[in-house]
Amino acid sequence: MSVQPSLPTTEVEYGDPLPVLGADVTVPLVTGGEVPYAALDYAASSPVLRSVWNDVASYVPYYGSVHRGAGYLSQLSTDLFEQSRQTVREFLGCRGEDEVVFTRSTTDSLNMMAAILPAGTRVYVFETEHHAALLPWRDTEFTLLRAPSTRHEAVEIVAEALAGHDPEQPGLVCVTGASNVTGELWPVAEISEVAHAAGARVVLDAAQLVPHRPVDIQELGVDYIAFSGHKMYAPFGAGVLAGRADWLREAEPYLAGGGASRRVVRGDDGFSVEWQQGSARHEAGSPNVVGAYALASACRALQSEGFDSLMAREEALLRRTLAGLAAIPQVKVLSLLNDSAPRVGVISFVVEGWNSSHLASVLSAEHGIGVRDGMFCAHPLVRNLLGNAPDQPDECGAPEPLAPGERPVNAVRASFGAGTPVEHLDRLVASVAQLARDGARWTYRTEAGRCVPVR
Ligand code: PMP
Repeated sequence: MSVQPSLPTTEVEYGDPLPVLGADVTVPLVTGGEVPYAALDYAASSPVLRSVWNDVASYVPYYGSVHRGAGYLSQLSTDLFEQSRQTVREFLGCRGEDEVVFTRSTTDSLNMMAAILPAGTRVYVFETEHHAALLPWRDTEFTLLRAPSTRHEAVEIVAEALAGHDPEQPGLVCVTGASNVTGELWPVAEISEVAHAAGARVVLDAAQLVPHRPVDIQELGVDYIAFSGHKMYAPFGAGVLAGRADWLREAEPYLAGGGASRRVVRGDDGFSVEWQQGSARHEAGSPNVVGAYALASACRALQSEGFDSLMAREEALLRRTLAGLAAIPQVKVLSLLNDSAPRVGVISFVVEGWNSSHLASVLSAEHGIGVRDGMFCAHPLVRNLLGNAPDQPDECGAPEPLAPGERPVNAVRASFGAGTPVEHLDRLVASVAQLARDGARWTYRTEAGRCVPVR
């Protein structure tokens, strides 16, 4: 690597308290040779914790059907499934009456949330949310909240919107814990306070928060929490919606089918169904016991390592990387809630003169670094951050340099967490610096909207 911007020295021990699989994977470079793969796309899907993988491998020989079988392994699997629910309940610090429902993902959980809303609910949601938190409310009355420019303003905007809320009408504020674009932490506890004062509930999109920060439902004062296993080192297809039991209990089941139904009777004009109560009401079909077990294993691992050391390490990596990027004049790191807002290990940026898709392809092909480019399923937010007119195309794979003054239409995102070696982030900074200065070494072309190296 020819360019090494000066990086701050630090006392922090970059040891690896929670190792992940894949640390020894090498990938070919288009320019020849192989390098260790720098996985910097944790915000999309993180690698698997070694302990999660070990737990899953130990369990799988004993896997059996859940909730239905009479056999020993069915009973064992049912016990483990329910214990996993208990682990999640403790991990989130749930209230006694809260339910923990296993879902497929955050998207699934938030769609379930929309499906269980009492009739006439008004939803309040920031236009800056991830599409999974923005779109499920389309069939509900909803108020779109404008983008704030500070954490304080975010609370004020909620307060203003809820000033007109009729306390007799059910209300729900949907807010993210940490942005998947900027990594910035939102003032969740403060927003909850304002929402509750106005008689509304709060659902927290914790997809990006859970892997990085302790999330306590009572401390944050939220009513519901949604998150995914695959962003917290347990990519086996499970997610969670946890929170207040009453709306879940009173709603029609999210899916109709076995498991959710207690009794089905054939009548003259169809069926009469007695639905289950509790989490089973919304978990029709055979549950993903391996996914739930893996997700609970990740909860245990994060808890037993303790967030203090994880956060200290991540904070040091974050500061080092931001300082490195700040030393490259062509780089602009994206931020909504201004630069002083605390962040998790998610950094989106643009490089002057560079199409972000091109940059991401070069980082992969010439440096073995896996980042993400695009609008990260948060189109309104990214358009806002890039100052683009709303009708510009969403994706652009063209490798041509941008004309002077031309704005990029998308960004590059690097994201990291447990198991990320400091070398991966240093390589990112050094590679971006070299590309900003010297350009790509290889030639690229657009194929199906993506930039690919010409071979
Ligand atoms: N919310 C946020 C903040 C996210 O980052 C994501 C995933 N990028 C989601 C929701 C959706 O998560 P999933 O794809 O696991 O459903």
